[in-house]
Amino acid sequence: MANARQSVVKAVCPLDCPDTCAMEVVVEAGEAVELRADREHPFTRGVLCGKMASYLDHVQRPDRVLRPLKRVGPKGTGRFEPIGWDEALDTIAARFAQVAASGDGPQAILPYSYYGTMGKLQASSLDRRFFHRLGASMLDRTICASAGGAGYEYTVGRGRLGADPMAVPGCRLILNWGSNTAVTNAHLWSLMVEARRQGASIVTIDPYRSQTALRSDWHIAPRPGTDAALALGLMHVIWRDGLQDDDYLVRATVGAEPLRDRVLDEYRPEHVAAITGVNTATIETLARRYATEHPSFLRLNYGLQRHYGGGMAVRTIVCLPAIVGAWRHPGGGALLSTSGAYDFATDRLTRPDLAPTGTRVVNMNSLADALAGELPGPPVKALYVYNCNPAAVAPDQKRVLEGLMRDDLFTVVHEQVPTDTVDYADIVLPATTQLEHLDIHGSYGHHFVMLNNPAIAPRGEARSNNDVFRALAARMGFEADLFPDDESLIRQALDGGPSLAGITLERLREEASIRLNFPSPYLPFADGHFPTPSGKCELYCERMIAAGLDPLPTYIPPREDPQTNPGLAARYPIQLLSPPRSNFLNSTFAGTDLHRRRAGDPTVEMSDHDAESRGLRDGDWAEVANDRGKFLARVALNGSVGPGVAVAASIYWSKHSPGASNVNSTTSTALTDMGGGATFFDNLVEIRPADPTPEDA
Ligand code: SF4
Repeated sequence: MANARQSVVKAVCPLDCPDTCAMEVVVEAGEAVELRADREHPFTRGVLCGKMASYLDHVQRPDRVLRPLKRVGPKGTGRFEPIGWDEALDTIAARFAQVAASGDGPQAILPYSYYGTMGKLQASSLDRRFFHRLGASMLDRTICASAGGAGYEYTVGRGRLGADPMAVPGCRLILNWGSNTAVTNAHLWSLMVEARRQGASIVTIDPYRSQTALRSDWHIAPRPGTDAALALGLMHVIWRDGLQDDDYLVRATVGAEPLRDRVLDEYRPEHVAAITGVNTATIETLARRYATEHPSFLRLNYGLQRHYGGGMAVRTIVCLPAIVGAWRHPGGGALLSTSGAYDFATDRLTRPDLAPTGTRVVNMNSLADALAGELPGPPVKALYVYNCNPAAVAPDQKRVLEGLMRDDLFTVVHEQVPTDTVDYADIVLPATTQLEHLDIHGSYGHHFVMLNNPAIAPRGEARSNNDVFRALAARMGFEADLFPDDESLIRQALDGGPSLAGITLERLREEASIRLNFPSPYLPFADGHFPTPSGKCELYCERMIAAGLDPLPTYIPPREDPQTNPGLAARYPIQLLSPPRSNFLNSTFAGTDLHRRRAGDPTVEMSDHDAESRGLRDGDWAEVANDRGKFLARVALNGSVGPGVAVAASIYWSKHSPGASNVNSTTSTALTDMGGGATFFDNLVEIRPADPTPEDA
């Protein structure tokens, strides 16, 4: 409750999380005094997770960046002195103009951003227009979801539409496949628990005994990166035993016969058991249950995409709901993301037409290669980082940092707090937090459009991304009408397709959150009508041939896998996974005292067998290493993984880590089979006792 001196402002959690919670900020005398969940919101239901519950501390952090800064020490040391906004903007504009006019041209300038905020305006609107108009290199933002997105779209079609999360309580069988839903999608998990109260079973498929696996009725742990083989084994049993939905297959799919022939021929349970490490009885039982217990909800997530064959793995798994007709039932089918359900006018916001034809596109996972001059096109001479912390999150960290140390690289970082990346900047710009700017949000975990209203004035001299791009555009002499105010941008964003019809800025001001124009419950494919070229779920996909891919689902092993790369595994025998630590969101909050205290030291969870054979005990400091680099972590023996697998929950900031490096010193810039995705979990390492330990140093 707010008292007479207080007002309540409706806001939205900005973090890269599918739940996109509705929040309320209580404001008194211009200060935010309380941040809480919106009790009335149908998905948030009055609960914020522990990450956001202390966001006011983040806004008021004593070390927050509050003024523009310029570097006065060597790169990497984080030594700066304050300057005024005019000097900062003049310096950036002059340097960009100089690079653009040089022989290298404007493509030597590289923007680098991801979803430090998920808001449509502050994540992808005037930034895109500015860099397109400048003619800078374009960034392919592929670090998280692009591999699975590509695989899903080949199969289910454009927009990645999927099952309705709000209908989960009515389901009978729930599969979390590569998804730590209880931690990374907590509001969906509460709906799953509601379903269980009404008799549903929850099954989790994950090499890691995550919090979700621990709380499930059944945990199945395949070897990392073998999910597609498991799905193909399930299909074998379903077809062999006649459990498929022939009517749905005939009406709503293309390619059922060649897929059936392949799985019956090539994916017998014994063979699948040898690949996955999952025994044949489990494969048989899961297949029968999946084919017969309806409605069944399949939550696919990001872990299984982070291997070389990640795109094909998602494609293969999302064939399953069509084979058993799961899409017919309320809540039935698969959910990868709801983001494609929003018909925002994205091209009107971002104006890709402003970019010169043939502009180079740089995959963000290849930052180490780009900074080393190993990509086609001009060398990167200027880097502008916002909404992202590449020094901590980009793969092949040692080479990323070598690149950021280059004397001839001009680096701008627009940030709220002094991250690892800030330490390498020439110019640092202070960024607003979610409480200090206007934005509009879709979600990738539900179907509501939401308005984030600014609750307080920007602290210090902080400015939003869009404010900075407007100011830079003016200095570069770009057309003012390309850089309008934020309210105009919201109206443009909402002027999209049918799912947004009737949703206006005025209504959002009144209601704060409005469900898309979908029926409830939403059954996107109960009668087929998939948004593919054939109009059907493409079990066989002609378009994949043109892309050099197998048109049928198949198993593509990881590049770094003991079964298929025994030479590498002889030196580095452990498959290392690095899922999110529950206290951080990617690297957000990894520099905050409270969250660091709660998270504790970096850990590497491993099996008793692997630890004992290396002379390691619970709590010992270990060095985790491969040819790319190394980091230090405390051994945790808690039974969460089997032999040959380890987990380093992440992402710690290197400057707060012993040895000044994190897990991404071992990850590689290799890309997935489709979508240009990252392969963070396709990572063989060796683990040995640390010498010296951080305590010795
Ligand atoms: S991080 Fe996710 S669960 Fe936590 S408050 Fe934000 S949207 Fe909600």
